[in-house]
Amino acid sequence: MKRCDSASHNSESADATPDPALDPALAGERLRTHHRILMEAVEALGEGFIVFDADGALLFCNQRYREMYAPIGETWQVGAKLEQIARDTARHCVGITDPEKIEAWVQTRLETAKQPNRQIEQQVANGRWLRVHDVEMPNGFVVGTRADITELKEQELRLEKARQEAETLAAEAAAANRAKSDFLANVSHEIRTPMNGVLGMAGLLLDSGLDPKQRDYVEAIHGSGEMLLSLINDILDLAKIESGKLELEPIAFDLRALVESATAMLAFRAQAKGIELATQVAPEVPQSLLGDQGRLRQILVNLVGNAIKFTKRGGVRVEVATEGPVGEEATLSFRVIDSGIGIDEATCARLFQKFVQADSSTTRRFGGSGLGLAICRELAELMGGGMAVTSDVGVGSRFTLRLTLPVVERAQSCTPVRCAEGCRIESHGPRERPSLKVLLVEDNKVNQALGVALLAREGHRTDVAGNGLEAIEMIGRSAYDLVLMDLQMPEMDGFAATQAIRARLGLSELPIIAVTANAMKGDRERCLQAGMNDYISKPIDRRHLIETIDFWCGGAARPGGGRHAGLQRLLDRLA
Ligand code: ADP
Repeated sequence: MKRCDSASHNSESADATPDPALDPALAGERLRTHHRILMEAVEALGEGFIVFDADGALLFCNQRYREMYAPIGETWQVGAKLEQIARDTARHCVGITDPEKIEAWVQTRLETAKQPNRQIEQQVANGRWLRVHDVEMPNGFVVGTRADITELKEQELRLEKARQEAETLAAEAAAANRAKSDFLANVSHEIRTPMNGVLGMAGLLLDSGLDPKQRDYVEAIHGSGEMLLSLINDILDLAKIESGKLELEPIAFDLRALVESATAMLAFRAQAKGIELATQVAPEVPQSLLGDQGRLRQILVNLVGNAIKFTKRGGVRVEVATEGPVGEEATLSFRVIDSGIGIDEATCARLFQKFVQADSSTTRRFGGSGLGLAICRELAELMGGGMAVTSDVGVGSRFTLRLTLPVVERAQSCTPVRCAEGCRIESHGPRERPSLKVLLVEDNKVNQALGVALLAREGHRTDVAGNGLEAIEMIGRSAYDLVLMDLQMPEMDGFAATQAIRARLGLSELPIIAVTANAMKGDRERCLQAGMNDYISKPIDRRHLIETIDFWCGGAARPGGGRHAGLQRLLDRLA
């Protein structure tokens, strides 16, 4: 109704108020108002705005646009060609002076202008950044906006700089961490040399006729030395793992013998506490596998040792079973189950971190460093496996190690076996030992005496050389069955001495075994490269020394390529 009224009113007063559509003056006025509003709106957006016609001639640009391309923007007239505007921009805004470069810039600009809906970033005078966005309309006109993105760009640059700084810091932290690990590795290595003397001599003293009191004292020295050594070994292991220098030594080994020997080491502790220690290896578990048995034993000893330590009643069971079918590889699970004090859920979650102990009070009942499980986990992961724990407080714990290892053909157990390729298989049972003439090359007096005593026990005769030069002289004068070679010595080190023995004296068959406190990755390769046959580390493990000597001088024909070359062949075959 209202509309009708107003319509009728309008028609009634048609003569008084002229229709703007019919009145040219009014229409012009309206158009100017619209134009002004449009201009104000375009200006209010804060972006540069430009329109070219279908021939690339400037139809319109706002004030903001002209300011963005100062000082030349003010001079552009309607009708100016895009090419000219681009040339002006290159010269006056971007600051290019070389005419050839200006032309190249203009060409690129014209080409991008032909692409539909193009967006580029452009740096203009006084370092400001513009985002250039042009769109072609259906009638061939081009409409464009220019946004000042300098702030955004600066923020991006700041972020990029911060990222680079963070990267540098991270690299520096990693380098510092590596330096720390190297330092720790070196320190623990330096400690191992005198520890060799302390432990070895205490061991010899224990075997001599001591009265009960003296025996107590020496046992205390030996026990403390072993604790110290185990701590040093833990620190060295961690340092080696952290600096990526821990190297696995896979060899073919008898799994049942390994489990037995690892638990046998701890059986007396269980016995002393009156708890049971049982092992159970499932029948389908292969007899012989390829892996680093030393590191595997280390994990098992740690887990079983802990289980005994934290169990007062009941017992500890070690179970080994296969998971899935056994083919060229076998996935094994090693479970160490105890009926001990158990671990609460929160501690379980962080148990494999360094220095974590369930009871961290200063009055805690159990000794230990809290490093063992962290090392176990690192070793397991290094071997491609993993570790897990489940536990109930007051009921007991179950630690699981899961590993996949290559299967070696079944070996006849309980005979000293050496596979054709020259890798060792753990042997047990008595064996014949010839008496050997050994040259011990070692500069440390205590370790000289220890070496002579250890070898004498096995029925070997030993001469001592204080450095590489003396060793060469002595080997030149008389024949030896075996050389035990320290690496770091005054006058001439073990590497140079070995090279001279092989090259100058022509003794390519003489077994030379490196005996060194160096336990870093690459040392073994250096020894083998220098022509040594094998490598044992200090403190000397008596059993390992005897096994190694037996292997190289034990009657059977000596393997041609050395055990590492042999091992590589075995690995190649299994791969
Ligand atoms: P350490 O025994 O030298 O302190 P570990 O890393 O081997 O270091 O063990 C860390 C902690 O985990 C122990 O201090 C103990 O609190 C807990 N723990 C490990 N094994 C067991 C277990 N079988 N039963 C109960 N607690 C355990």
